[in-house]
Amino acid sequence: MTFDSSLPAVPGARHFIGGGWVEPASCERLPVENPATGEVIAELAAGSAEDIDRAVKAADGALTAARHARWTPSQRQDALLALANAVEAQAEEFALLETLDAGKPISNSRRVDVPGTVATLRYFAGWATKLTGESMELSQPGESTGYTLREPVGVVGHIIPWNYPLMGAAFKLGPAIAAGCAVVLKPAEQSSLSALRLAELAIACGFPPGFFNVVTGVGPVAGAALVDHPDVAKISFTGSTATGTQIAAACARQMKRVTVELGGKSPIIVFADADLDAAARAIAMNIFFNSGQTCSAGSRLFVHRDVADTLTGKVAQIGAAMKIGDTRDPETQLGPVITAAQRSRISTFVEGALAQGAQSRGYEGALPDAGYYVAPTVLSEVRSGMAAVDEEIFGPVLCAMPFETHDLDEIAALANDNRYGLSAYVWTRSLSRAHGLIGRLRAGTVRVNSAAGEIVMPAGGVRQSGFGRENGRAGVEAYTELKSVTIAHGHD
Ligand code: ADP
Ligand code: MG
Repeated sequence: MTFDSSLPAVPGARHFIGGGWVEPASCERLPVENPATGEVIAELAAGSAEDIDRAVKAADGALTAARHARWTPSQRQDALLALANAVEAQAEEFALLETLDAGKPISNSRRVDVPGTVATLRYFAGWATKLTGESMELSQPGESTGYTLREPVGVVGHIIPWNYPLMGAAFKLGPAIAAGCAVVLKPAEQSSLSALRLAELAIACGFPPGFFNVVTGVGPVAGAALVDHPDVAKISFTGSTATGTQIAAACARQMKRVTVELGGKSPIIVFADADLDAAARAIAMNIFFNSGQTCSAGSRLFVHRDVADTLTGKVAQIGAAMKIGDTRDPETQLGPVITAAQRSRISTFVEGALAQGAQSRGYEGALPDAGYYVAPTVLSEVRSGMAAVDEEIFGPVLCAMPFETHDLDEIAALANDNRYGLSAYVWTRSLSRAHGLIGRLRAGTVRVNSAAGEIVMPAGGVRQSGFGRENGRAGVEAYTELKSVTIAHGHD
């Protein structure tokens, strides 16, 4: 069977700066690869410090212009809503772009990435008109007034990874625009096409030129130049802990605001009383969806001994039955990982665990010859201390470990025995166990009896998973500075 896979019109190797396509300062190019075939399908401009400087100046100029000509909260709301509508109107084009660029099965791009982007932009549109300060009654002598203002932090730099290219851009663009900031986005070099299209669309949706700029390029050059630029007031980064650590340190040198949403190795705790079918489905989808390339994926499964074989068997069976193949086929459920390098990194973890005595269950069929496919895998007979258990694999690999105790401190200690702290999942029908664990788990997010996330809920990490929160009210307020105003009324 063949599928229509003609690449939607792509912008060519240019940046989007100040409301239009801009030729890069250097003629260096980066290949755009389809991870399902290994074919080069387009080229990106390899952005330099000069390109970044140009984009930051455009963003800065846009903020100044907006101060004069007032880009009001309701106009920002309308622009975000218009952008959501425009993405929805071109849903199929965006879905195909995401599929060809990032290796996502088309059914996933259609069902998750594109509608998720639309919903995200709509959610944040509402915040533009709802940010408020507070007023306080002061105790100083005489009549006085005290209140706080929420002001946009200014020009913000966004640096995102390749796992959710379009939705990841929207997660950061939405709150920044709602708060009145101007954005320079450096998308991941492996998957920049959809963000470029988004920026182009934004202009037709009422974004003043310079409020949403996209400069493509590699992290250590374009990304680092954005982080180091003195006129960038805040960096919001999502990616690996290694890169996030460097970025946070660089921001500290300039006292730049920074949010770092980093890796995870999130635990799942399943008690014997849980709904095992529902748990198995959610656990499998959470770790296998997007080929495991999700920061918040539950990847360490702690399951009570009484139901361990049953539950891990069910999860492995779901993995074994997944339809793997052509990402353009609407039936395909699992696509490749993003690059050959990621695939070999994942197999190093799996082979290392097997060499140390791990057992593997899951998909046993053939994988496509071309492309960077990895089989959904459940590893058992593993323990903390093994790299596969301790490190973020970022692939469709679940580590399953039984526990016997009923002591919540001991169970939490197992779950917390890891340097990350992004998400944690609990499956039980017992309210006291669920509440008991919520307080004991070291994670930014705890989900009980469901793996689904929602944009209204603040998300972020503790420990090596980073700091700062995105989404919800907290995510928008992170793009504001609080100014305290006190006025002594005095006498006329
Ligand atoms: P991963 O792709 O494994 O998530 P990274 O965290 O390195 O790895 O990448 C996430 C994003 O950070 C990408 O857009 C990448 O280009 C960017 N990046 C990588 N290194 C740097 C750096 N030194 N400074 C700024 N950005 C970087
Ligand atoms: Mg690509």
